[in-house]
Formats: sequence, structure tokens, C-alpha cells
Amino acid sequence: MTMRDYDLVIVGGGPAGMAAAVAAVGAGTDKDRTLIIERGDHLGGILNQCIHNGFGLHTFKEELTGPEYAERYANMVREAGIPYETGTMVLDITKDKVVTVVSRKGVEQIQAKAVILAMGCRERPRGALGIPGTRPNGVYTAGTAQRLINIDGIMPGKRAVILGSGDIGLIMARRLTLEGAKVDAVFELMPYSNGLNRNIVQCLEDFGIPLYLSHTVVGIKGKDELEGVYVAEVKDGTPIPGTETFWPCDMLLLSCGLIPENELTRAMGASINPLTNGPKADDNLETDIDGVFACGNVLHVHDLVDYVSKEAAAAGTNAAEYIRDGRNSTAGQLGIIPGNGIKYTIPVSFHKGDVRNDISLKFRVTGIYKNASVTVKAGEKTVFTRKMRVMIPSEMQDITLKKDALNDITEDITVEVTE
Ligand SMILES: Cc1cc2nc3c(=O)[nH]c(=O)nc-3n(C[C@H](O)[C@H](O)[C@H](O)COP(=O)(O)OP(=O)(O)OC[C@H]3O[C@@H](n4cnc5c(N)ncnc54)[C@H](O)[C@@H]3O)c2cc1C
Repeated sequence: MTMRDYDLVIVGGGPAGMAAAVAAVGAGTDKDRTLIIERGDHLGGILNQCIHNGFGLHTFKEELTGPEYAERYANMVREAGIPYETGTMVLDITKDKVVTVVSRKGVEQIQAKAVILAMGCRERPRGALGIPGTRPNGVYTAGTAQRLINIDGIMPGKRAVILGSGDIGLIMARRLTLEGAKVDAVFELMPYSNGLNRNIVQCLEDFGIPLYLSHTVVGIKGKDELEGVYVAEVKDGTPIPGTETFWPCDMLLLSCGLIPENELTRAMGASINPLTNGPKADDNLETDIDGVFACGNVLHVHDLVDYVSKEAAAAGTNAAEYIRDGRNSTAGQLGIIPGNGIKYTIPVSFHKGDVRNDISLKFRVTGIYKNASVTVKAGEKTVFTRKMRVMIPSEMQDITLKKDALNDITEDITVEVTE
């Protein structure tokens, strides 16, 4: 088998992979010794099928469609002269950073000094949700329906019900309506929506599509083709017997959460954070495997691509520094613990006395909080506190912890919501 060698191999050519590559080369990594590997036929990742607008407000201060946003970064990759290989899938990565890939050329191996994981995420399918009933045609994840309509030009049905109020489901409620289908309702298990507020307004309210909170699909009817779904009210996460109603439809779209694409990460032996399903990453966005970094949706599910690009740029810069210094940088760390009201944090740890850059600490809350404070503490010492007007689980929060404040600390820190 052929063995090539590169300084930096980036797995995934979506927004995260492209931003990481551009930043790494900008920070000094040799462009000719950097390689982006993408299994699809084009750079751009999931953005290629997101033809709606709303991308890039933070990064470019203008509203772009998904493909336009992706194209800006693809152009940066091309202008920087960074090599990329599409139609090439990474099959395996070892702890020693030997990357095995398959393409039309066959199977090859690449020895890298550093690797950036940027494989994105995938949707939770019906099997993972355990919806009872028959298995007819017409049950799709929202992203599959999006791909069918926006890329393949196939309309999957005429009358839809959507389960889950994640952003993809909300976007697809509008998309299906614009394409002439009837969307009767969106049902959400939780008492709050998991989508961005702007998507609820622009994709549901503007089109008169009702959102039923605390409701779920409890049954599917149809032998070969979907005929309809049974929906029940929910209390404390459990359907209430006797509240079932029948909704006729030929499409059920599932928008019930995204899971980091973590098979490669797991197989190479990186520790997985059970709170995110992505790898555990430190303040350099490095996993607990030396020289392996992660960013974008493979690390944790983001709501806005602008935040993906920002995080990926940091991972790229850190990987460039790692390649230049050749240090073993996974040692000597203190924990960042999610306390009251915090679902998870990124990163999960930081270097004791050796935090090199201010930390962009990202987290999600477990419930809806109004006028509450986020506080970061080391024992009794407050490292950071800020009052937040509103925090909801669907919106990622991002605060900056100053490196000088962290470098004096000798114990784990806890992030918590105080009301
Ligand atoms: C339907 C939908 C609507 C969205 N709407 C918005 C919006 O309105 N505004 C907004 O800002 N954001 C939106 N987002 C979020 C945004 O698109 C994502 O946050 C962003 O695309 C994540 O970038 P990524 O590079 O981490 O992942 P991806 O875009 O998923 O890219 C990952 C890439 O890795 C490749 N890959 C995976 N495994 C391998 C492998 N083994 N070998 C080689 N390549 C591999 C994949 O093919 C893919 O190209 C939306 C997302 C979705 C899914």
C-alpha cells in the first residue's frame, strides 16, 4: 500500500475543515504539506443542501445561502493553494496518526504529524427514536428530505407532519410549503422548541403552521406507504393515554436531534464526552490523543455555521502551533465541570498554568433562564460572572475566559447558572 506523508491532514471538507485548513496555513503550516480529505464530490459539507439564507451574518456581515457561504471558504482554500481530495473517504486513523483512505485510486495510507477531525454530524433516525408502528415508505429524516428536494429534485410527498422542532425540521416545514406540499403541524416532545426563535417565526408562524409543544408521535399507520401518524400529548416525557389523535399524511419528517459523526474518533481511541457525543477537547481543541484536534459539528452540534468557522479557525491555528513546536500537549490539565443548569461545556479541560490563548467557552443550558447569571468558579473564587438576559437550550452560549485569570488557578473550575 502506498504511504504518503503530510504535516496536517484534515478529515472533512465542510465549513469546519475548510476554515481549519485556511487558519493553519495562515499560522505557518506549509500549504503543500496540508491536505483536506472529503468523501463527497465537492467541498462545502452539509451547507451545499441548505439553499435557504441566514448564513454568514457574523462572519461576513451579510446574509448568504448555505452554498454561497461554503463557496466563500472553498475560494479561500483554493486561493491559499491548499490541496484537497474529494471522493475520498477516511476509513481509519491510528493513534500514531496514520490515516487510511479509500478513493477511486484504491486504498492508501497517509502519515500525518497532526490531524484535525471535522466530519460533521448526522441526524437521529427512526430506529434511534423507537417510534412504534409499521415501516412504510414516507418516513424521512428532515435532512434526507432536504437533500431529495434541494439536490436531487425529488418531492417526497404531498402532505407532511414533522416530529421535532430542531432547525432542520423548521426549515423543511417552510421548504415543503414553498414547494406546494401541505404541512399540517410540527410536534415537539419538550415543553420548549429546540430550534432558533427566528426559524420558528420565519418558517412556521409566517406560513401558519402550528407548533404543538409537549406532543409526540406514538404510532405509524401504513403497510407499504405511510397513511398517517398517531400523536399524543406528553407529560414528564411520557405520552398521556387517551390523548391520541390521528393525523393523515404521506410524509413524516424527523427532526429529533443531531449526533456527532464519531465512529473514527471512537475507533482511534479518543475519549468521548457522553454529554456531547463528540470527543473530549481541551482549551487547544485537542482531543486526548496527542496531535489530534476536533472542531465543528463533530465536536458538538452548533446552531450557526459562523460559530463553526470561528471554532475551526482556532483548531487550525492550534494545530499549526503543535506542528511547529512538536510538543506533547495533552498533559497537565484541570477540568471544566458543568454545574447547575449547564448541559455541557467546550472545552472540558485547560492546561494548568499554561493557557496560551483566551478560552472561548461554549455551553448550552438545560432549561429556559431569564435574567440569570453564568458564573465560573474555582472553589470559592469567582473567575467569571455575567448576567444573561435570556438563555434557552437551543442556543449555544459563548463566553470568553481570560488566560491571565486562568493561569493562576490550581483546581478544576465549575460553570453554573445562578438565578
Ligand atoms: C439542514 C440544516 C440547516 C442549517 N441551517 C443553518 C442556518 O440557517 N444558518 C446557519 O448558520 N447554520 C445552519 N446550519 C448549521 C451548519 O450548516 C452546520 O453547523 C455546519 O455545516 C457544520 O459544519 P461542519 O464542517 O462541522 O460539518 P459538515 O457541514 O457536515 O461537514 C462535514 C464534512 O465531513 C465529511 N466527512 C465526514 N466523514 C468523512 C470521512 N470519513 N472521510 C471524509 N470526509 C468525511 C462530510 O462528507 C462533510 O462534507 C444548518 C445545518 C443543517 C444540517
